[in-house]
Amino acid sequence: MRIDIVTIFPEFFDVLDLSLLGKARQSGLIDLGVHNLRDSTHDRHHTVDDTPYGGGAGMVMKPEPWGNALDAILGAQPESDPADSATTKTPITGNAADAPTDTGPILIFPSPAGDQFTQAMARELSLEQHLVFGCGRYEGIDQRVVDHYSQRGRVRLVSLGDYVLNGGEVAVMAMIEAIGRLIPGVVGNPASLVEESHEDGLLEYPSYTKPASWRGLDVPPVLRSGDHGAISTWRRQQQIERTERVRPDLMPRRVS
Ligand code: SAM
Repeated sequence: MRIDIVTIFPEFFDVLDLSLLGKARQSGLIDLGVHNLRDSTHDRHHTVDDTPYGGGAGMVMKPEPWGNALDAILGAQPESDPADSATTKTPITGNAADAPTDTGPILIFPSPAGDQFTQAMARELSLEQHLVFGCGRYEGIDQRVVDHYSQRGRVRLVSLGDYVLNGGEVAVMAMIEAIGRLIPGVVGNPASLVEESHEDGLLEYPSYTKPASWRGLDVPPVLRSGDHGAISTWRRQQQIERTERVRPDLMPRRVS
């Protein structure tokens, strides 16, 4: 998978040299390009922001640097003709399940006003060939950037959760980690991906390792019984109990 990131803080992504994603980059499973938005400005001060039309607090990211940076990554594409289904790229704004299967790049803007990032979305995006992330700062990016590229290709606004971060970098890091580990070969043992929280709609069961007793707390005896059927039943019960207690909102969606 090719991943491009546009940001005014490229250093945020130095950590992608580490751990499993670092190994995935070394082995060629992930090909990463981090682009400084300021390199796409043409003024002496490398300005990327300006005051908002209509007034109000804060600054807004200017469209021109974004246009320059994204055209260089995506290529300057003509507006899609809706009558020509062979060239039309449907903007994705709805649920992950609605996503068309398309081979062109998908442009993702992290935004608290976007669709909620989920494991299902991570899995869907892990099947893409090319992801391009645009990290907003200040009060966000001029809306015309989203509108322009939505007319030319697939664009998605994605929220990490119902809170506001200072910028898109941390959100993009989280998304890349969740997506990257689903690319075949990135996690050594693919079986470890199957029984995780949110994969089947439930939270994961609690895990234990040695020693069998620690500070007066014992590992549940069933896990030491060697009875795989009983262990499996116990784990399923734990998943259901935990999900009902912590995230009852997930229960209707779960697979029984
Ligand atoms: N004024 C914007 C609003 O109220 O929706 C918030 C701007 S925020 C300070 C700056 C940038 O951080 C956003 O453009 C976005 O890239 C990123 N960001 C903030 N919260 C986020 C979230 N929950 N999920 C994804 N990205 C977020």
